[in-house]
Amino acid sequence: MLTYNQAFYELKNKLQPLYDEREAAAIAHEALHHITGFDKIQRLLQKEASFTSQQQLQYENAVESLCLGVPLQYVTGSAWFMGREYYVNGAVLIPRPETEELVAWILEDNKANKQPLQVLDIGTGSGCIPISLKLALPEAVITTCDISVGALEVAKKNAKHMEAEINFEQMDFLDTAQHNKLAIYDVIVSNPPYIPVNEKERIHTNVKDHEPGLALFVPSDDALVFYKAITLFGNEHLNSNGYIYCELDAGHAMDCKALFEQAGYRNVEIRKDMHGNWRMLRAQFG
Ligand code: GLN
Repeated sequence: MLTYNQAFYELKNKLQPLYDEREAAAIAHEALHHITGFDKIQRLLQKEASFTSQQQLQYENAVESLCLGVPLQYVTGSAWFMGREYYVNGAVLIPRPETEELVAWILEDNKANKQPLQVLDIGTGSGCIPISLKLALPEAVITTCDISVGALEVAKKNAKHMEAEINFEQMDFLDTAQHNKLAIYDVIVSNPPYIPVNEKERIHTNVKDHEPGLALFVPSDDALVFYKAITLFGNEHLNSNGYIYCELDAGHAMDCKALFEQAGYRNVEIRKDMHGNWRMLRAQFG
């Protein structure tokens, strides 16, 4: 059996063709934390400790997946969002810190609101947006929809585990005939797919080859197709004084802003994320 220390260096070296040294070390540490239950410091204190046979097997499987470029979160089945741990698998996008900023904006605007808000999240994924909102705004009635049955299964599992009561709908949001399944909302939020298939090449293989295409790519060459559907939907399904919040691709932020303005929205505001990229939009209708 390998010692923890040997396993760390072996994995780090094997990952170095794929990642830079610092990232390879961080991934190796996190993978060993997952396998052994000991964090970096605890493992440093017991350098000569060895794997059990079960841990050795788990390690070998992890090495195989990680060397194929599978993101660490899919290997450990876990990702963090707003201080909570979510179960994730290949059916869902790994929650991103940029999306935490979008949720923070919604909470900033609505925390003081004592009314039971009606909220819709379009594109559930792991459930990170609706679950975070429900846990911060327990009075809110939250509905979320996704086309992917696999994603809805993951989100339901997370919602159950975190005791967040949420309504789930399986539907194709681009099929407007299905919009009658949905009601009228005070807050509509979405982190929709926004990468046109013809721009697939600009995405890191690590993401492109392992995260779900349905969650990343729009089914046409029009990067704005989901935002167009959202503006039309908001027309009928957003309460007066309600807000729409969307996550954006920095490259299309200005086009999205113009789209909402042309569709009759007011107070269309875009914000940058912590990396200085235009990433979020908020709009009101009418
Ligand atoms: N809302 C989920 C997230 O932000 C899923 C987004 C998506 O699948 N496009 O992680």
